[in-house]
Amino acid sequence: MAASSIDLHLHSTASDGSYPPETVVAMAERNGVRVLALTDHDSIDGIPAAEARAKSAGIRVLSGVELSVSESEFDVHLLAYGFDPTDKGLVAALNQYRNSRHERARKILARLKGLGIRIAMEDVEEIAHGGALGRPHVAEALMRGGHVETFHEAFQRYLGHHAPAYVPKAAVKLEEAVTIVRDAGGVTALAHPGTLNRDHLIAGWARRGLDGIEVWHSKHGPADIARYQEIARRNNLLMTGGSDYHGERTPDVSIGCAPVPESMLAPLDEALRSRRPIRSQR
Ligand SMILES: [Zn+2]
Ligand SMILES: [Zn+2]
Repeated sequence: MAASSIDLHLHSTASDGSYPPETVVAMAERNGVRVLALTDHDSIDGIPAAEARAKSAGIRVLSGVELSVSESEFDVHLLAYGFDPTDKGLVAALNQYRNSRHERARKILARLKGLGIRIAMEDVEEIAHGGALGRPHVAEALMRGGHVETFHEAFQRYLGHHAPAYVPKAAVKLEEAVTIVRDAGGVTALAHPGTLNRDHLIAGWARRGLDGIEVWHSKHGPADIARYQEIARRNNLLMTGGSDYHGERTPDVSIGCAPVPESMLAPLDEALRSRRPIRSQR
């Protein structure tokens, strides 16, 4: 049995998870989960199948997605919930994010080719497993190809900021993602802040439109949970939670394993209601 009947952070084959959306929902049902959100990277393609499977089980599905936004030199994962998945602006933005990631990877591979290193795009895509394509996947391909020994060496010699195959990324700003999600009637939450290690920046992000933080997560221990509850209260942020289940890639994580309390749902629903007064609630 799972620790919670709520899991708002799940990945399927619509991005880098091992199982199709309907399988993820069936597994959630077996674990006693009653409310869930599929949060695939830059993709909402799995939502209809998840909803169809959840309906027969009486499970509530919140629309969800996990976006990557750029903050100076690092990537921040942003969860979005409760938006209208047919919203044109949101759908267009997600397509654009995916395309620009592929475009960048293609440019990096072209530069590597100029340096005498041939790596196929298909190999990088296979390593990324449908996840948000990035330099770490190219680094892995360089290692597999025997061009470098370590991840560090891949960045040092080829992919890092001043290295010859470096290509700057078309940055998605926090404000941009927040606005797109809001316009689609949803809310945003900072994903797994415990793995990001930049707690001192959360207050600033809240001022810039972030709605919540992921307090409960498979990688958060009791001390993390207490700390993020306090940070959420201080900054008037919603509290969300989920396992970040990926299937085979996260063997130590099970659906519903994060101890998400039912009390987090009412404030989230309240925020969603105020955000889209006209549209009917799911
Ligand atoms: Zn993430
Ligand atoms: Zn995730």
